[in-house]
Amino acid sequence: MKDRGKKAAALALLLGLCLYVYMATDAPDQNPYLITDYSRLRPVKVDRVVPGHEEDQLVELVREAKAKGLTLSIAGQRHSQGGHTYYKDGIMVDMTSFNRILDVDPARRTIRVQAGATWEDVQEAVNPYGLSVKVMQSQNIFTVGGSISINAHGRDIRSGSLIKSVESFRLLLADGTIQTVSRSENEDLFPLALGGYGLFGIILDVTLTLTEDELYRIETEPVTTADYSEYFANKVQADPQIRQHLARISVAPDSFLTEIVAINYRLENKEPLGPYRKLKAGDQGVLPSKLLFQLNRSSDWGKNVFWQTQHKYYDSLQGDLISRNNAMRSKSAFMEYTAASSHDLLQEYFIPVDRFADFVSAVGPILQEERLNLLNITVRYVQEDRESLLSYAAKDSFALVCLFHLPITSEGQARSQKAIQRLLDAVIDHHGTYYLPYAPFPSLEQFRAVYPQEKSFFEKKRLYDPGGLFRSYFYEEYKGDDR
Ligand SMILES: Cc1cc2nc3c(=O)[nH]c(=O)nc-3n(C[C@H](O)[C@H](O)[C@H](O)COP(=O)(O)OP(=O)(O)OC[C@H]3O[C@@H](n4cnc5c(N)ncnc54)[C@H](O)[C@@H]3O)c2cc1C
Repeated sequence: MKDRGKKAAALALLLGLCLYVYMATDAPDQNPYLITDYSRLRPVKVDRVVPGHEEDQLVELVREAKAKGLTLSIAGQRHSQGGHTYYKDGIMVDMTSFNRILDVDPARRTIRVQAGATWEDVQEAVNPYGLSVKVMQSQNIFTVGGSISINAHGRDIRSGSLIKSVESFRLLLADGTIQTVSRSENEDLFPLALGGYGLFGIILDVTLTLTEDELYRIETEPVTTADYSEYFANKVQADPQIRQHLARISVAPDSFLTEIVAINYRLENKEPLGPYRKLKAGDQGVLPSKLLFQLNRSSDWGKNVFWQTQHKYYDSLQGDLISRNNAMRSKSAFMEYTAASSHDLLQEYFIPVDRFADFVSAVGPILQEERLNLLNITVRYVQEDRESLLSYAAKDSFALVCLFHLPITSEGQARSQKAIQRLLDAVIDHHGTYYLPYAPFPSLEQFRAVYPQEKSFFEKKRLYDPGGLFRSYFYEEYKGDDR
């Protein structure tokens, strides 16, 4: 009888917690008649949303928009957070339905896909051939077109950023023509449209080079912030068997910015890949992770509990075997957050490897003074890559992906912007850069300081699209009105 009472109480507590997490994180507040992106900032009315289906239809759309003086914005999964995919009263081209796999060539190790295909579509197409994507984000939910338009990067430490694995693509330009673009054909457009944020035309399809699927053994190690650069250089980068790497920095008050957990994916030569090749199903255990993450949002105590639990979780992965394709399908559903009064926003800073510890020491006091609610920092490594005109990796750097929980009110946003601009000053002081797909908190001066090629980028934009057909809030914010 006593036992039954305890079970009922535990069940009631569990149900109560689930309800709390649901109410706190999933209350829908979106006006369905307005368009926004993952940030839920700046919702606007657009002329219409047109799903992409056929090439001829898209060519016709470009002609119609020009004839009627409308603008076009291009959208994939709309996980960018700075109004990159829509513009008021314009047409939003939704590319997610333009998503066919056109060809897999196992001998050449290439795939040709329509731009609206997601990485998940690509993984499903290449996995049967024992092949794998070279570079993509940590999650597989994004479109290929959206990813190459922001020049994504991920956990692979040997293959550079995504642009390196793009062989060619076909681009529908503002003049209504379709051009093949590669490093040897229409090569001027290659570094513009890749990392071009949809401002040079609609990428129709892309040919990507692939690599072999491999088996990895997971290794996790605690490191301190002070030792991390040396640890990475000597133990990770210098060991060719380690193929992928990420790290998490503590944001818990008890170990604030001092403890790090490093996670390495080491090539496993002794075991066969075969039994591990099957692709993992979708997210599992979402609700408990969502609950923990909500604690992390809500209090210092919750942040300490979340960090300790994360630690235990990574310890539990030690020695696990996982295929490369499965390592590149990590979970994100537990982070989904749509409550009305606040949102989770990403910012990402690229800091030269040798300046990492100094940078972290410099931002600690700013984060505390500004009382920014920082939920986590993930660290990845990006190789120097200057190919794209708006390249973020001017040097070999660590990418610090910071997730903030911020108020959504206009005063809250103004306060957040001021605080984040202070962080950006520290980024600039440490010769770093920041990532452009996220909320446009940086000032125009900060943008220009970090992206010295921006002037040529916008000049070329005006050359290829003199009427400003392809438009977005990102463009409006940073093109500058002074030239
Ligand atoms: C939870 C989360 C995790 C993330 N993790 C990573 C990560 O690990 N690494 C990383 O690099 N980034 C990461 N990002 C950023 C993410 O990669 C970008 O926001 C990316 O653009 C998302 O792809 P998408 O399909 O949503 O593109 P969208 O946001 O829809 O579009 C992005 C840009 O591409 C343009 N575009 C889209 N399709 C086309 C097309 N066919 N032709 C021309 N232009 C086009 C759009 O106009 C826009 O400017 C993350 C973002 C979130 C929210």
